[in-house]
Amino acid sequence: MHNKSAHPTAGNVFLWILAFIPAVDGLYVRQELHPMALSQNGKFSYGESQIDIRVEIADYANRNGYPATHFADAVCSCGHRSFKLLIDDTEGAAVRECSSCKERHPIGDSSDYLADASLEECECPCGSEDFEMTAGVALYNDSEDVRWIYIGCRCPKCGLTACYGDWKNEYEGYQKLLAKIWRAEQVETRNPHQPLCFHGFP
Ligand SMILES: [Zn+2]
Ligand SMILES: [Zn+2]
Repeated sequence: MHNKSAHPTAGNVFLWILAFIPAVDGLYVRQELHPMALSQNGKFSYGESQIDIRVEIADYANRNGYPATHFADAVCSCGHRSFKLLIDDTEGAAVRECSSCKERHPIGDSSDYLADASLEECECPCGSEDFEMTAGVALYNDSEDVRWIYIGCRCPKCGLTACYGDWKNEYEGYQKLLAKIWRAEQVETRNPHQPLCFHGFP
């Protein structure tokens, strides 16, 4: 059954997310509007692709009171995109293990907290232990420093998408944190002053 660390959250039926890309001289431009499809079955949300993890994290983070504004998708150095997740969100540490090459990476600054962590392996209710993985961070106001981190996963087998762990994280410089383990070119930024739009209203 579901790992106790997991926090499947109530999802919304059709969500829209604004994707921003940084333009020259620091301005942000809207790149395109993607209709997302997160469907609800009982207490679980099901996404169609990895980007739905961001919507699920954003929804969870808004309810948590620290909205997630920056995200990074996990890609192994071998290029593979699914992982086992070992996590202790009390201690604030998580490790991903590549399903293909088996390489293990502490996520973000987790290596600093592994000594005291009791990692538990996450399992989807469908029984699979392989996940697409995306991290989201909330920042302090008018700062690049991290306040809270969220680890979200989607099961490619059944689509279940959830926030599997979140904790207070005070890393200085979110880009460094997201790039540290999640590949730098995968770090995406959107204008922190532009809230995520839900329920189809851009
Ligand atoms: Zn790998
Ligand atoms: Zn599953």
